[in-house]
Amino acid sequence: MANVLAPWGAARFRECVAETTIAPTSLTAYEPVIGLEVHCQLKTRSKIFSPDPNQFGAPANSLAGPVTLGLPGVLPVLNQAVLRLAIMAGRALECKIASITKFDRKHYFYPDLPKGYQISQYDMPYATGGRVSFELADGSPRTVRIHRIHMEEDAGKLLHSAGGGDPVSYVDLNRAGVPLLEIVSEPDLRSSEEAYYYLQTLRNILRYIDVTDGNMEEGSLRCDANVSIRRGPDAPFGTRVEIKNLNSFRAVRAAIDYEIMRQADVLESGGKVIQSTVLWDADRRETRLMRTKEDAEDYRYFPDPDLTSFTIESDLIREIEQTMPELPDAKRDRYVAEFGLPLYDASVLTREKEVATYFEEVNRLCGDPKKSSNWVKDEVLGVINKQDIALPDFACTAKRLARIIQLLSDGKLTGRMAKQVFEHVYQEDIEPEAAIEKYNYKPVDSSALPAIIDQVFTENPDNVQKILDGNDRVKGFLVGQVMQKTRGQAPPQEVNRLIDEKLESLK
Ligand code: ADP
Ligand code: MG
Repeated sequence: MANVLAPWGAARFRECVAETTIAPTSLTAYEPVIGLEVHCQLKTRSKIFSPDPNQFGAPANSLAGPVTLGLPGVLPVLNQAVLRLAIMAGRALECKIASITKFDRKHYFYPDLPKGYQISQYDMPYATGGRVSFELADGSPRTVRIHRIHMEEDAGKLLHSAGGGDPVSYVDLNRAGVPLLEIVSEPDLRSSEEAYYYLQTLRNILRYIDVTDGNMEEGSLRCDANVSIRRGPDAPFGTRVEIKNLNSFRAVRAAIDYEIMRQADVLESGGKVIQSTVLWDADRRETRLMRTKEDAEDYRYFPDPDLTSFTIESDLIREIEQTMPELPDAKRDRYVAEFGLPLYDASVLTREKEVATYFEEVNRLCGDPKKSSNWVKDEVLGVINKQDIALPDFACTAKRLARIIQLLSDGKLTGRMAKQVFEHVYQEDIEPEAAIEKYNYKPVDSSALPAIIDQVFTENPDNVQKILDGNDRVKGFLVGQVMQKTRGQAPPQEVNRLIDEKLESLK
């Protein structure tokens, strides 16, 4: 039976709810079942049913024309760019695209919804039945089925003033009508770790094909998690709770773990889990009840009479498939086949599109895929992850890194110097040549090496004899001596070659 919590989840949970009363043994008695509903905003110029601009950060209510406001007499018209991006996302997630689809009105009352209903898709979503494959931290493979994807419009935003005086709420309708995809997974996930990697992979795919910014903090990617627990893999599903307000990857993990523990606690103390929607409170690290069970009937769905059902031509689907950028898995396999990179290295380089693009640029300029891969994977990713820098803001651009690799290959820098030059370049935002000039990185002139090697041989007659007697390991010592005398600035290959030559002449 699967563990309720992955080890890291358990540690995280102990950290946030130290006073839990659940006996550790009862944790392993349940298997969690999780399904995610992911909303992503599409990167279009205008909104889904109107020419209002689709933009983040404009002055409040400056992007809300008559259609967005739902004024009487206006008619929505589907933005064709939305349909194209939706189809591309559907195919990237291996969904079947419907030949006929339609829009429905989903009714609810809330001040951020000007019309009193949201235009969404109910029983005829444009895409169904896809899959997403990924690996967990330990490399074990998982596949999660996609139940469906539908198009819909986003709602506006409420701002609640917490200042002095009477509490006031403001409405900003700029976001109303922004195109969204809702991607609904099957309940195939079994831990917060699986949910985390699924979401990461989904985001990477959507960013690869450039349909969304996928920014959880800015809300262009949002996730609701449905969580239930059951007594083992063969038991029927338990009652689910839907968690909203998960606006970071961290929150997704923590909230799911919290909810699993809370439900185990309820069941262990003889209670029942109630179907409900809860909010994740990131500060208090707990879920709070928002409302109990709501059903589809509550929304009084019906087909939007302003938007007729329409067909999606197979020619359009084929055309979009042909313009679809290369996906992460295909890119990874190509790196292995084309550049001879190890599978692991190729998957690190292709996990995020920005990194792959950077690597490809470095490789194109220096022509050495193996070196490009090692530098990007070990040095560049090391620095940007540790210092939390976005790759586009990293001062050692692909061009600069390619230059460093070239200087290294040409023997103008030693490996050690190249790393130091790299550090100066990204810390000081200067060209490699400028760093070399400023800090005077010059490999020792090779013409000076024979004399230094002669000196080392003269100073270490015993060790030289040992090598001549067949103890090859002592050679490293001689190389070390030469490096010391040149303050590490001699090219090691050249030193090795010259030492071999001299040993040969002594035989
Ligand atoms: P609704 O339309 O009412 O939101 P769905 O059946 O479409 O309900 O499910 C929504 C999400 O809940 C899906 O991601 C699905 O995988 C997940 N889900 C359904 N049943 C369960 C369950 N018992 N436990 C956990 N998740 C579930
Ligand atoms: Mg739902």
